[in-house]
Amino acid sequence: MRIKSILGLPFDVLKYEFVEKGFSVLDAKRVYPWIHPKLAQTFEEMSDVPKQVRERLPDFFSLGRPICKILQESSDVTSKALLEFEDGNCVETVFIPDEKRNTICVSSQVGCPIGCRFCNTGTQQFCRNLTSSEIMAQIIFWMERQKKLNAAPITNIVFMGMGEPLLNSQNLFAVLKILLNVKTYNFSRNKITVSTSGIVDNSIIELAKFGVKLAVSLHAPNDKKRSALMPINNKYKISDVLDAALNYYKASNTSHVTFEYLLLDGINDSDDDAFELSKLLRKFGAHARVNLIMFNSWNGSKFMGVSNEKANHFSKILLARGIRTIIRKSRGRDIFAACGQLKSEEK
Ligand code: SF4
Repeated sequence: MRIKSILGLPFDVLKYEFVEKGFSVLDAKRVYPWIHPKLAQTFEEMSDVPKQVRERLPDFFSLGRPICKILQESSDVTSKALLEFEDGNCVETVFIPDEKRNTICVSSQVGCPIGCRFCNTGTQQFCRNLTSSEIMAQIIFWMERQKKLNAAPITNIVFMGMGEPLLNSQNLFAVLKILLNVKTYNFSRNKITVSTSGIVDNSIIELAKFGVKLAVSLHAPNDKKRSALMPINNKYKISDVLDAALNYYKASNTSHVTFEYLLLDGINDSDDDAFELSKLLRKFGAHARVNLIMFNSWNGSKFMGVSNEKANHFSKILLARGIRTIIRKSRGRDIFAACGQLKSEEK
């Protein structure tokens, strides 16, 4: 019989699994706080769970952690880990400390089927969705590391790592349920961001019910340029994506939607691109934020990033047109912090 990891099960699912295997609801109630937030690594340490239950649990369930194959720390203290799961598949996850926050970036798939041209992960073969336990295991990895180092806890979580979260929406939602649960981590919904390349099917409507922040990878101001960079644009056009983002903002009661815009030299960085982008986002008023991202080049990439001056100039055009814009600091350049690079390097 296959032993199932229970790291990523919301309480109602765990309860169901327990009862199915002959455990009681009370057993589930006693075990759950040991998993979240106490981060128990064995059933043995669950001192208020009856001994005979503790002894039977490993026959069915596991609390196993992935293996950390590589852990790199950048000179700016950004850290990146390559975690290996039971079947040998690996994903990357990143820790980005700031003055006030400790943010982690989490992967949702092994590889990515979206195939954005500028993304290293997009060049890797899509393998499979991560289970909710594998997604949760990345978060727990950083929580445990902070605990071990006696350092400040994780404050923010972004689902922006390898893969498209909304193509693995049910497992993503299971993890969100755990994180937002007042009895586990009680994360504020404002501290969690889900990033999408623009999947605007039912999953984005369901996501709005969690009220977490949404980031949309736009990266171009018109369909022609976006389709050349992101093949997903052939399925969901910019107008569909923006309509869905506006509906998300209204339904989720969040303060704004973030639009990610990777500045690529000679591709999407002209004054006209900035003018066009500002027109596109006008209907969001103060509820759009643009994150201009500096490109972390990688081996084999045919794109180049822009200079700081160019980014500032692009930003000024947007700001002058009332679009709230920031240039995102590029972190961890010396550890290949662009998504997917560590995995490629390891290979
Ligand atoms: S940028 Fe995101 S959605 Fe696009 S290929 Fe990379 S991981 Fe996938």
